[in-house]
Amino acid sequence: MNKRIDTIIVGLGLAGLAYAEHLLARGKSFVVFSDRSQQASMVAGGLYNPVILKRFTGAWNGAAQLDYALPFYERLEGKLDLKLDYQWPILRRFASIEEQNLWFQASDKPGLQPFLSLKLVENRNKGLSVPYKFGVVEGTGRVATKTLITAYETYLEQQGFWQKESFNYTLLAQDSQGVSYKDWQANSVVFAEGYGLKTNPFFNYLPLEGTKGEVITMKIPGLNEGAIIKSGVFIIPLGEDVYRVGSTYFWRDKTQGPTEAAKTFLLERLERFMTLSYEIVSHVSGVRPTVSDRRPLVGQHPEYKNLFVLNGMGSRGVMTAPTAANALSSYIYDGIALDPEMDVARFLS
Ligand SMILES: Cc1cc2nc3c(=O)[nH]c(=O)nc-3n(C[C@H](O)[C@H](O)[C@H](O)COP(=O)(O)OP(=O)(O)OC[C@H]3O[C@@H](n4cnc5c(N)ncnc54)[C@H](O)[C@@H]3O)c2cc1C
Repeated sequence: MNKRIDTIIVGLGLAGLAYAEHLLARGKSFVVFSDRSQQASMVAGGLYNPVILKRFTGAWNGAAQLDYALPFYERLEGKLDLKLDYQWPILRRFASIEEQNLWFQASDKPGLQPFLSLKLVENRNKGLSVPYKFGVVEGTGRVATKTLITAYETYLEQQGFWQKESFNYTLLAQDSQGVSYKDWQANSVVFAEGYGLKTNPFFNYLPLEGTKGEVITMKIPGLNEGAIIKSGVFIIPLGEDVYRVGSTYFWRDKTQGPTEAAKTFLLERLERFMTLSYEIVSHVSGVRPTVSDRRPLVGQHPEYKNLFVLNGMGSRGVMTAPTAANALSSYIYDGIALDPEMDVARFLS
């Protein structure tokens, strides 16, 4: 028996989830196919921060994305009855006086002013070595992405909206009415497979690069740190002496699964400024869907007009996914043009 719905979503990471929420807000019916073959949203540090802390520059559309994303996660907290958003400052550890000067220069720039505090902070944590103070980034925090995805899967499952299986691209048929896939007939398909896009025959022409990242969760008794610390690595407090330390950026290795090399890299950087002993709880990895021009991949297939893509969230999916999902749904249902910087039409010659 055929099931008539509006949309088939492929992928339930931050992108697919944000799109599902936008469909629900519009009263559109859908089904999500997702198989957990990609792990980026499950392992992410979950930080939102509109400042690039290496160079003290603004992330693309960072402030606007944050303005849209924070109420989006707040609504999800209400709907799922869960704590998801931990609004904590990031303390950026300076490695030198020169870095402090760069910070002050950056904090003068209009887009960065609201986020970079002019007051440098002395370290009071005996477990950290911080000779040149911290700069405080305001308006930042962490979304518990694994908690969110897991709860959302359950929510969709209860509604009968989640198919826990791989999407088989060869079974997708298209005609003037829309698309059909197994028992479903739909108006459109939105592909949100993260790095899994590489095996999507319709959109694998897009320049998705992929950057593998690894994080370690550890117990550090006595650290008692309540802020997010950024030095050579991030230390993100999870509560009860547990912290997440990450992340690596590896461009060549796209395999799933953690590596000894990344573990050594993270621990070596951590031990440069964290002096306490620790115990490793877990070590996980995922591939970030990064793009050569560092912009999302959003839009319509050039030939198959019922097929759409929502990808390229890069290393900032928490901030980017809600805005990108909103842009795609506004394009499809309201005819509002996509920002050319995120529109996949930029890759048509
Ligand atoms: C170590 C690490 C740390 C990170 N830290 C942060 C951070 O602090 N802040 C931040 O904002 N971002 C962070 N990111 C980036 C963030 O994780 C990504 O931007 C975001 O998760 C991408 O979401 P996505 O939905 O596009 O892809 P994914 O999360 O990869 O989800 C894709 C989904 O599609 C499914 N799928 C793929 N192919 C198929 C198929 N054929 N059939 C069915 N299902 C399929 C997968 O199973 C998966 O569920 C981090 C990433 C990593 C790896």
